Amino acid sequence: MFAVPGGGGAPGGRPRRAGRPRNTGRLGIVIKLRENLDRKQIFIIKATGPDRKVSKRQRAQIEGAGRRSVHDRRDDVVEEVRSRIDIVDVISEHVALRRTGRNYVGLCPFHDEDTPSFNVSPDRQMFYCFGCQKGGDVFTFVMEHRGLDFRQALELLAERAGVTLPDRALSPEQRRLQAQRKALLDVMERAARYFENLLLRAPSAEGARQYLHRRGLEAGTVRSFGLGWSEAEWDALGSALRSRGVAPDLLVEAGLVIRKEDGSTYDRFRGRLMFPIRDERGRVIAFGGRTLGDDQPKYLNSPETPLFHKSRVLYALDRARGRMRQRDRAIIVEGYMDAVTAHQSGFEEAVASLGTALSEDQARMLVRHAGRIYIAYDADAAGDRATMRGLEHFARLGRASSVFIVRLPQGHDPDSLIRERGAAAFQALLDRAQPLVDYVFDRALQAHDVLRPEGKAQVVRLVAPWWASLESAVARSDYMRRFAERLGVDEAALRAELARLVGRRRAVTDPVVSGRAAAGRGVAGPGGDGIRNKSREAVGRLRSRGGRSIHPGGVPAVPGHVRAERELVRALLHEPDLVRRVLARVEPGAFTDPRAREAVEVMARLAGASPMGAAAGGNGTPAGEVTAGETSPERKPWGRLVFDNLLTDEAASWVGGLIMAGPPPGDAVALVDDCVQRLERARIERRASELRQLILQRESAGEEVPGSLILEHDELQRKLRGIESERR
Ligand SMILES: [Zn+2]
Repeated sequence: MFAVPGGGGAPGGRPRRAGRPRNTGRLGIVIKLRENLDRKQIFIIKATGPDRKVSKRQRAQIEGAGRRSVHDRRDDVVEEVRSRIDIVDVISEHVALRRTGRNYVGLCPFHDEDTPSFNVSPDRQMFYCFGCQKGGDVFTFVMEHRGLDFRQALELLAERAGVTLPDRALSPEQRRLQAQRKALLDVMERAARYFENLLLRAPSAEGARQYLHRRGLEAGTVRSFGLGWSEAEWDALGSALRSRGVAPDLLVEAGLVIRKEDGSTYDRFRGRLMFPIRDERGRVIAFGGRTLGDDQPKYLNSPETPLFHKSRVLYALDRARGRMRQRDRAIIVEGYMDAVTAHQSGFEEAVASLGTALSEDQARMLVRHAGRIYIAYDADAAGDRATMRGLEHFARLGRASSVFIVRLPQGHDPDSLIRERGAAAFQALLDRAQPLVDYVFDRALQAHDVLRPEGKAQVVRLVAPWWASLESAVARSDYMRRFAERLGVDEAALRAELARLVGRRRAVTDPVVSGRAAAGRGVAGPGGDGIRNKSREAVGRLRSRGGRSIHPGGVPAVPGHVRAERELVRALLHEPDLVRRVLARVEPGAFTDPRAREAVEVMARLAGASPMGAAAGGNGTPAGEVTAGETSPERKPWGRLVFDNLLTDEAASWVGGLIMAGPPPGDAVALVDDCVQRLERARIERRASELRQLILQRESAGEEVPGSLILEHDELQRKLRGIESERR
């Protein structure tokens, strides 16, 4: 199904790609060079291994490169998928990630480790492991992690992103579902515009407009949230959309109208202020309607539909996401008005949970986006059972210490507080928010008589799982001391009791344990050995697949000049100005690591410099020159551009890692020059040793040794000595 002839592009593929000479594959180049031996090219063949047959792996690479011509990283559709998917979302489904500064870290799924060296950058949308040096973008991750090829990874992620692949063969059922989704989204969008228009213009919405004015909502806020009004009639929206050709069944499926037993329908939302609920991509998937009178219920939501699953939605997340990341903080409020008012007052990282009982999906969404999570429910809701159950999800996710409870004055919600006392008052409450574990402890103390031993025991039982979920040993020991003090018990006794309680639960509920198990690694303890063995097997598979030796510490053994190649490419990925300087002295073929060679070939092509032929010097900015002609209209960073133009997965993973690793420390020019010199020396040494062998062979066979060989050998030795003395 995915097989496409390796040579000439896909049948029906884009003509722009079909004619690319690169698709002839490296095999063709090697053969051509063999026919046309000259001195300069011998070592290029040497580098790819002249005596080896093309290995299965290489063949797969070459064929893979051909297959990529159907969809590779430069495709518009690939760009589209990538732009709609967040690498942090994808990876955090498999790896327990923790935020550190701008990045996330976790235990690497590709090698065995106990301390996290696996980094994910939301800004760069890339991952990199400092232990095993695997890295890349979201496609690389899915390919490596699930053992898929590029095409399969693309299909999987396109599905997730809701992007239709042009030449994808869908089953009739998939086609039906996709068409249904599209039709429903279209209906919701039309309904949103209908409601919005009414709010802005209809005489019947005058009361709603005055209400919003009284609540201090500015016209710009109302418009940007797309608020609307539903007429207090039984068939207003229904008849309006039907008259525009929307099928009645679709209106029912979308949850906008309700069908009666006689088959006729009536509007679900009547005489309500309408809040469109959007998915993370900003598409309307449901509505919340607030009554302005005494009708019950006060808030009415869309029912569950193929588009809307209440437990997986946070209101205003589409608008709050960027600011959450930026401020590393999320504010959770209960209602639509709370969220809208918060945004208008500058708290753009606020989302509404549509009820106080957070679902596990919602908790996951929150910890993915922000390091600190502030729960700002009104005082009555904050303490109730449903709220507490929702907060337990954070403990199970190992993130209890990231959650803070904002204590609003009695009778206030964020909306009324901000309106009456201003944004500064709300900020002050955020600043004084109480860590969740403290809050739980306070509540437990209030609920039980700690003067009696049974009361103490109950408090300890309540607090134990929360305490155990704290990630940091320092925090755990700190809390232990404070608990002991407040309870008036001996710290050693408390420790023993907590250990007993936690030990019993640990096997099943410890978030750290289950998180690690999910990421494919085990821990000591009951059942841990089996998991650990499994993960070892997986690592073993990866090692043999990767074909590179990995030391027990997880650091691959790398010969010196290979490290120089790596550092050189790393520097060039971050310093486009140095590309020409390097290409003036080394040609891509001089790199022995095929991944480095491919990267430098791409850079040479993008920089518009014919290798070796370009004028020496660092003038010109390749990054600026090449972006104009690319398919993507926006300017891409240079490293990203190189990455997107790579053909083999090996190179993509490797280069992705180097981009993530950031520029090498120190003076880039000095480093680059040093690496270039190392490469030159390695090249000369290789050629010199080749010549020595040739000379020895001739001598031992009793043949005459051509003087040119000896001259060349001596010349190379002289150059080597020159380089040595230059270095000293
Ligand atoms: Zn790793």
